[in-house]
Amino acid sequence: MPHETLKIPQATAKRLPLYYRFLKNLHSSGKQRVSSAELSEAVKVDSATIRRDFSYFGALGKKGYGYNVNYLLSFFSKTLDQDELTKVALIGVGNLGTAFLHYNFLKNNNTKIELAFDVSADKVGTKIGDVEICHMDELEERLADQGISVAILTVPAQVAQPITDRLVHSDIQGILNFTPARLNVPASIRVHHIDLAVELQSLVYFLKHYPMEEATEPDGHAEPFID
Ligand code: ATP
Repeated sequence: MPHETLKIPQATAKRLPLYYRFLKNLHSSGKQRVSSAELSEAVKVDSATIRRDFSYFGALGKKGYGYNVNYLLSFFSKTLDQDELTKVALIGVGNLGTAFLHYNFLKNNNTKIELAFDVSADKVGTKIGDVEICHMDELEERLADQGISVAILTVPAQVAQPITDRLVHSDIQGILNFTPARLNVPASIRVHHIDLAVELQSLVYFLKHYPMEEATEPDGHAEPFID
C-alpha cells in the first residue's frame, strides 16, 4: 500500500519496486552510493526519468557523488511498507497457480501467499510447500481469519468474475488477475491484469513488425505490462 503522506505520480510509483530491488542488491554488495547513470543502466530507465522520480522522494543526487544508497533504501523500504507483511491468497491451483506457490515472493518484497483455494477434490486438503489448499466454500471465512488483503487469480477465465464478486464482499483491496477475463470491480478495489499469452504474442508481433527503436518508449524502456 502506498505511504499515506506521499503523493507521487503513478508512473513513478510503478518503478519503485524496480529501484528497490536493485538498491537492495547494491547495499548487500557493500556499495554506499550510486549514480543515476549506473542506476539507469541496471534498471533500463533513462537517467532523466530516474532523477525526476528521485526528486519526488527528496533525494537530490550530488554531482560527482550520486545518491546515497542507505538513504534511498530506507526511503523505499518505508514507502513500500516493507516492514509490514502483506498476506496474499492464491485462487486456482492449476499449472500457473502451483508455480506461484513454489515461488518465493518474500525474496524480493514483503508479500507472502498464506492460503490457496481450489474446488478440485484432489487438491483441497493438501499442501504445496507450507501453503494449505482450502475449498472455495471456505473463502470468505478463511480470508477474514487470516486478514488477507490481496488475491492472485489463476482460475479458468469463465469463473474469474463470480469469484471476484465474492472477493469484493470480503476485505480484499487488490487483485492480481492472471486470467484473460476483464474484471468488473468497484472503484475501491484495484486490479492489475497480467495476461501472459497476450504479452508473449505482443512481443512476437513487435519483433516482427517494428524495428527496436519504435518498439520502446522515447525514454528507452518498454511499457510495463500491468494496467
Ligand atoms: P493453468 O491455467 O494455471 O495452467 P490448468 O490448465 O492446470 O491451470 P485450469 O483449468 O486453468 O487448469 O484451472 C486452474 C485451477 O483452477 C485448477 O486447479 C482448477 O481446479 C481451479 N478451479 C476451477 N474452477 C474453480 C473455481 N470455481 N474456484 C476455484 N478454483 C477453480
